[in-house]
Amino acid sequence: MTRKGLLIILSSPSGAGKSTLAKRLMAWDPTLKFSVSATTRAPRAGEQDGHDYFFRDRAAFEAMVAAGDMLEHAEVFGNLYGTPKSPVEAAMHEGRDTLFDIDWQGGQQIRNSSLGKDVVSIFILPPSIADLESRLRGRGQDTEEIIAGRMAKSQSEISHWAEYDYVLVNEDLDTAEDELKTILRAERMRRDRQPGLTDFIRNLNKEFDAR
Ligand code: 5GP
Repeated sequence: MTRKGLLIILSSPSGAGKSTLAKRLMAWDPTLKFSVSATTRAPRAGEQDGHDYFFRDRAAFEAMVAAGDMLEHAEVFGNLYGTPKSPVEAAMHEGRDTLFDIDWQGGQQIRNSSLGKDVVSIFILPPSIADLESRLRGRGQDTEEIIAGRMAKSQSEISHWAEYDYVLVNEDLDTAEDELKTILRAERMRRDRQPGLTDFIRNLNKEFDAR
């Protein structure tokens, strides 16, 4: 029997290193499935449709929502973002864990859904606001106006830290990566997530009885 897949939600203010950490986790465990979101925002340089996001216009996005194809959706920085439902359900049935890079609104919606007990949510904080701003600038991908907007949003994103199961400060990428792996290993070991355990104990008891 395979266990049901976990839903691992990573949230953070923009620039706290969440995407880098998500990529590192995916490289560490190739069985992890990354949830590719749909969005109405324009692709950044190097982003590929179907890999980084499903880039859709507003009408197509709203049609997906209306059809009930989204697990959650929210407006972030004036664009719509949402999680397509069927890949997540498929991964859960296969016993594969899914990794989500979504904001607090999406985190809240999935946690409050019927899938809530399979959620492990992790909030990533920057070591300081100065650090957050310099990382946002360092990406060199966004205009001043967008950076200012993201900084303004950071404070409200951070205000949701206490809704998460785990909170880590990304002062050093290697340390943060290790902390994420520790969380994943422990969550996978939880008694209620080991479906073969009852049978295993039954067999141990048979061994006792046979002595
Ligand atoms: P970006 O435009 O920088 O890729 O993402 C902006 C924000 O939207 C990030 O905080 C990211 O986590 C969030 N986001 C990305 N995909 C989704 C999604 O499917 N749902 C929600 N609620 N937020 C998302």
